[in-house]
Amino acid sequence: MSSPNGKSETLVSKPGQLIAFPLKSSDGALEYISPSSLKLYLTCSLKFYFKKVLQLPEPSSPALIFGKAVHAALQAFWLARWREGDASADTIVQAFKDALTHMATSEGVTLKDGELDKLTVKGESLIQAYLASDHAKSEGKPVGVEVKLEEHFPELPSPVLGYVDLVKPGNVVVDFKTCASTPNLDLEAFQHSLQLTAYQLLVEEAAGSRVTARELVFLVKTKEPKVIVHSLPPASEADIARFWAMAEHAVKGIYEESWVPQPGMHCAWCAFRSQCSQWAGGLS
Ligand code: SF4
Repeated sequence: MSSPNGKSETLVSKPGQLIAFPLKSSDGALEYISPSSLKLYLTCSLKFYFKKVLQLPEPSSPALIFGKAVHAALQAFWLARWREGDASADTIVQAFKDALTHMATSEGVTLKDGELDKLTVKGESLIQAYLASDHAKSEGKPVGVEVKLEEHFPELPSPVLGYVDLVKPGNVVVDFKTCASTPNLDLEAFQHSLQLTAYQLLVEEAAGSRVTARELVFLVKTKEPKVIVHSLPPASEADIARFWAMAEHAVKGIYEESWVPQPGMHCAWCAFRSQCSQWAGGLS
């Protein structure tokens, strides 16, 4: 089997090191590699196989469509800011409602009686809290909104692909998160470091200039909604070296079709536990 880029073998040079990626790869799984795919493989390679290679469906949930609808509203707000269009609260709340209704249908989510109304009320107050926050009122036209970036890097045989929620002036990379309770900021920054470093590398490659800061923006769905901005410095040289070492390990494993269950707390929300339980040391 040849690699997705059509070459039978990919050699990657690094100072003092030459890595030969193996000939074998999973069809389609490496046309590109996203930060979420890297994290998925590193968390559980067998789950990666079920989700990305076999493409088994995963059921959606009310919490999932709620998060996506909030995301759609934030995108509408920043796009309006970018285009100097209508960024009024009424328009942005309507964008949330439209996205929620659409996703409830298109993703086949079963909602209890009155649940859609409750989600709508909760989302509206969360969006209003964000629009009233200093983050939403920050000056300047965004550099990019929901930017799709795909770049080839010499460290990997497949391009890295990422969608960056927002890039503010100064190449400030912003990622929005919705969560149910007040987050532990240090832990969140640690858990999302792979994603944030990937976004930094993508933005710097596309813009040709340095990222000056990174931000995790949490929209917290508590009774009294909160917006928490966690500002982080750019990834250091050590962070970047760590990213490439993790990415190379993951991509090598995917090329080698190395899948194994990696049980842990993440199994609690894995949709493939039944398939996983059938695994007996190999896939044939
Ligand atoms: S149940 Fe756990 S070990 Fe099995 S595939 Fe899912 S995440 Fe991996």
